[in-house]
Amino acid sequence: MDTVTSIFGSMVFDDTVMRARLPKETYKALQRTIKQGKHLDITVANVVANAMKDWAIEKGATHYTHWFQPMTGITAEKHDSFISPTSDGKIIMEFSGKELIKGEPDASSFPSGGLRATFEARGYTAWDATSYAFIKDGVLCIPTAFCSYMGESLDKKTPLLRSMETINRQALRILKLFGNTDVTHINTTVGPEQEYFLVDKDLFDKRKDLIYTGRTLFGARPPKGQELDDHYFGTIKPRVAAFMKELNDELWKLGILAKTEHNEVAPAQHELAPIFTTTNIAADHNQLTMEIMQKVAKKHGMVCLLHEKPFAGVNGSGKHNNWSISTDTGVNLLEPGETPSENAQFLLFLCAVIKAVDEYQELLRISVASAGNDHRLGANEAPPAIVSMFLGDELNGILKSIEEETQYDSKEKEFMKIGVHTLPTIPKDSTDRNRTSPFAFTGNKFEFRMLGSASSVSDVNTILNTAVAEELKYFAEELEKARDFESELHDLIKETIQKHKRIIFNGNGYDNSWVEEAEKRGLANLKTTPDALKHLMDTKNVLLFTGHRIFSKEELSARYDIMMENYCKVINIEALTMLDMARKDILPAMSDYCKELAETISSKKSVCADIDCTYEQETLTNLSSLVSAMYKQVNKLDEDLIKIKSTEDVTEMGDYYKNTILSDMTAIRISSDMMETIASSEKWPYPSYGELLFGVR
Ligand code: ADP
Ligand code: MG
Repeated sequence: MDTVTSIFGSMVFDDTVMRARLPKETYKALQRTIKQGKHLDITVANVVANAMKDWAIEKGATHYTHWFQPMTGITAEKHDSFISPTSDGKIIMEFSGKELIKGEPDASSFPSGGLRATFEARGYTAWDATSYAFIKDGVLCIPTAFCSYMGESLDKKTPLLRSMETINRQALRILKLFGNTDVTHINTTVGPEQEYFLVDKDLFDKRKDLIYTGRTLFGARPPKGQELDDHYFGTIKPRVAAFMKELNDELWKLGILAKTEHNEVAPAQHELAPIFTTTNIAADHNQLTMEIMQKVAKKHGMVCLLHEKPFAGVNGSGKHNNWSISTDTGVNLLEPGETPSENAQFLLFLCAVIKAVDEYQELLRISVASAGNDHRLGANEAPPAIVSMFLGDELNGILKSIEEETQYDSKEKEFMKIGVHTLPTIPKDSTDRNRTSPFAFTGNKFEFRMLGSASSVSDVNTILNTAVAEELKYFAEELEKARDFESELHDLIKETIQKHKRIIFNGNGYDNSWVEEAEKRGLANLKTTPDALKHLMDTKNVLLFTGHRIFSKEELSARYDIMMENYCKVINIEALTMLDMARKDILPAMSDYCKELAETISSKKSVCADIDCTYEQETLTNLSSLVSAMYKQVNKLDEDLIKIKSTEDVTEMGDYYKNTILSDMTAIRISSDMMETIASSEKWPYPSYGELLFGVR
């Protein structure tokens, strides 16, 4: 039997494979590209490509692909085989350095927000040498970034890589000020915890809403939901356990550090967490994880739902983005240190994050905005739509004492003087861990919890890296010109706390009083995607992105269009699916049922004229009026969908879908769910919530 250690990374062209298969000089040159971003010479690329091809063929691969992440949020691949014809009518297997480094997918159908005119529709993909190539389904996949011929980014990876460079540059400036000259590179690190649902495939196939939209558009509450909390961390059912085992094996083969798995709060809901790694690799791995979860589930007769809210009234699925900064010397910069100087440095990085989250709260909200996630954020189970930070009592006390220049209530009863005093130990897994905060400090990293389960982690981390880089840049500029470093540092930290403490909230984020309090503090509460998106082009945000060369103004405005269009398209598909289900299945089924009830009543009455038919009569009356109501609501939705066709402005369209279409849909759903509650289950055309949620045994 294969052991975990022998299968781990077996499908990855990783460092061990490179070392073993590349000539020493080639290996060294490639390392310079990977570690220091040095340009890769074509002769080196040729050698690497050839070695990659030989390795891939030995592993059974016949094709290669430039694997990229267009703005659709999922990954894209176009396969080319290695075959190349020879003069004698045979073929050889070839793969050149040019093919490795650059690809030209016919990508005119990927969203570009108008950046790419059709005459130059192709765009190109460029190898991201910092993320290892791997084999998936017999195809050698080369992680790449995707750009237009004019160099505009058309994907989610390019801005992420740019943001990693910018935070590296600024963090190194700060480290130098603290005398850390041995550090030559920093990376941000990410560990994304991924939630998902598993439902039985046969039941899934009977629901058009799940098939077309990934979520249920109809469905009455089952008698049992998640109220007993008996699913969370509960025993894993055999079918699910078999799925998890195979999933782990597949992920391990791809070098993905799948670590923790457990049942989640909702029935049929589960979670997988990997060990953290460098951000761009974590983003690649998370995309792969989502893809493989879906594939493996099918093999086990189940479907993996990654939608943020597959079931109304049941917890939705999120993704927690655990984020930190680490040096190439192995130091986590968000780990409180042991010496006064280390602590001062830690506090400065902490302040950079606090300032970044406060100043760019709208951007963080935008980075998690989607039609699906709107069903979670602000509802009573997920973090609210308000971005705030949790630091814990210890750290909060320390910041307070710095701000107010008062004694910090530690054993030593000391004044906190930056650079002079050591911090009291901050317990890593402090007991006051706050599960309701959208952005929590958890001892040596931050956990951003607003992400929806289906989203790529790229957007979030692009924004986080860039915003923190901006604050580090400001700090570096102030400190580089300081006459008295220590006192300037102290003032800077104190000033940051004073100005940005409004973003810190250690209480219960799910409490209604927090909404009022947040409003008093002037924090944004952007409840929907259109509301949030409108802030993307705010001056401060445009300045942030252009200043750090993450996006040009044109790229940013293209992204605005794409996100808003995507929001509208998703709701449009849902609305059309609803119409289809209502007209073709629900209304006919209920009308038919009404007829049967009427027939029952008349046949009962024909036997005995004054026989009691209360049940049939009342059910018939109620159902008939619900059928009529729903019929009207369905027609209204249909008409409203036609009206939208006259609008071309995406912002107007977004508001229309949010205000008009979504409320039409809600009305239809209410009627339908009431019918489902009173109708015979035999007559209801779809599997119920109960069957879906408790169907996998
Ligand atoms: P939980 O939040 O469930 O208690 P942990 O705090 O142990 O679990 O870890 C959650 C996730 O955070 C894991 O994916 C882990 O790898 C990741 N993580 C831990 N340290 C870091 C770090 N320095 N940078 C980024 N992610 C981290
Ligand atoms: Mg967590």
